[in-house]
Amino acid sequence: MNSQELLKELIWFDTTKCFIDGAWEKPVSKKYFELFDPSNNSPICKIPRSNKSDVNLAVQSAQNSLSSNWGSFSSLERGRILNKIGLLVQDKIDRLAKIESLDVGKPLTQSKADASALARYLEFYSGAVDKIHGETIPYQNGYTVYTLREPHGVTGHIIPWNYPMQIIGRSVVGALAMGNAVVLKPSEDACITALAFGEICREAGLPNGVINIVPGYGNEAGEYLSNHPGINHISFTGSVEVGSKIQQNASKNIVPVTLELGGKSPQILFEDADIKKAIPFLLKAGLQNAGQTCSASSRILVQDSIYSKVENLLVKEYKNLSIGPAIQDYDLGPLISKKQAERVKKYLSLGEDLNQLVTLSLENNEFEKGNFVSPSLFGNVQPDHVLAQEEIFGPVQVLIPFKDEEEAIRIANGTKFGLVAGIWTKDGSRQMRMAKQLKAGQVFVNNYGAGGGVELPFGGVGHSGFGREKGFEALKGFSVIKTVAVNHG
Ligand code: NAP
Ligand code: MG
Repeated sequence: MNSQELLKELIWFDTTKCFIDGAWEKPVSKKYFELFDPSNNSPICKIPRSNKSDVNLAVQSAQNSLSSNWGSFSSLERGRILNKIGLLVQDKIDRLAKIESLDVGKPLTQSKADASALARYLEFYSGAVDKIHGETIPYQNGYTVYTLREPHGVTGHIIPWNYPMQIIGRSVVGALAMGNAVVLKPSEDACITALAFGEICREAGLPNGVINIVPGYGNEAGEYLSNHPGINHISFTGSVEVGSKIQQNASKNIVPVTLELGGKSPQILFEDADIKKAIPFLLKAGLQNAGQTCSASSRILVQDSIYSKVENLLVKEYKNLSIGPAIQDYDLGPLISKKQAERVKKYLSLGEDLNQLVTLSLENNEFEKGNFVSPSLFGNVQPDHVLAQEEIFGPVQVLIPFKDEEEAIRIANGTKFGLVAGIWTKDGSRQMRMAKQLKAGQVFVNNYGAGGGVELPFGGVGHSGFGREKGFEALKGFSVIKTVAVNHG
């Protein structure tokens, strides 16, 4: 069975339509584009190329839902419906995972983890939604002052191709929990599970218009959405360039934005680290989803005295990696597109002056069809080398030796990003000193979590962006505080 036939067996909704006002609608644009399986670049389905009119309809329908039913739902009612959506996602984990593997090129086990994470986000937020509230504030005598936590209104969500289901979980679900109505623009390279989510919301009985999905191109549907005066908050995940554009667009309408823009996240190993425990984390955090992870740990900082040992162990692990079509569930699948594979190869060519410790052979016809790139590990890299500074978004890790704690912090903080950092040491005081000084939105000590952790606030500093999603912090971000001061004295 080819990829297209396989997908046909898996989908139970029409991928050629937009999801607007609770129904599947032909795009007003009457235009479509093709999605491809990254493992072999064969076409798998057609997707609407939404235009300005489609986005207008989506925003209008979201606004209508706020002024009718959705706007009057209690937090308990919202929680219950999110719970129902979560149970339906849970039932469909295997199916959603296969769809994702065909669309994104992600190995099946990893796609399953994404689908499970989406179910977990729905579980978490369905339980959290009636546990976040305003407070009373002591003020002058004769007054009672309290705060109300209210939704922004219509939230726009522009998401990338690397983790559609997880990003829907952490952004769309958080926004719904707080009573916002959503317009979602998935990536042109991967949008089938986003459409599946719309259908699941419909099946669960989410009122019409509460979620609207307009697939399309970034510079069309994405631009319209981020400029639209009917949008009250924008959540964007993707590149720094586009993130900056989104912020500028939103500024014209004075609309708050959350930007999640990736990183160059370090893991730092001191000589007292439990190396055996660290190795699987170093590997997974760098190579999960073939390195196309915003929180990928693409820099590994190792103290001089254990450098050779760590390097040897990692080389051994790299040599054992398997690579192949996503649906067959190897360690690594292909990259999302030819364009992304070319981008990564260009970076690799900039590393020709470096010590490339290992690379796998891809001499097989099968690999020629897909967007495969061999995982690459570079040793003894200078911290200011381009491969140690820029986000490559591919299966590439660099090893950087350091002398002492001071130097480790300087190197770790020496990029324009600041998303996640990992510290490996048994010294409790060092753990706390480092956690305080590292420039990052999340710091992991003796572990590293790329992806997962729905309870843990997530987001960056510097060029990694701002705003927090996941955990209760997301619920704060997707709501605004109104202060009510009552003079009864
Ligand atoms: P991107 O261009 O920033 O795309 C992210 C999302 O923004 C997609 O839905 C995209 O739509 C949309 N978009 C593109 N141009 C837009 C515009 N002018 N206005 C509004 N929306 C727009 O990212 P990419 O091209 O997929 O990847 C490029 C690089 O970004 C990667 O190599 C990586 O370094 C970084 N990246 C980071 C993350 C992360 O999680 N932090 C995720 C993905 C990519 P289309 O898909 O239709 O263009
Ligand atoms: Mg695709």
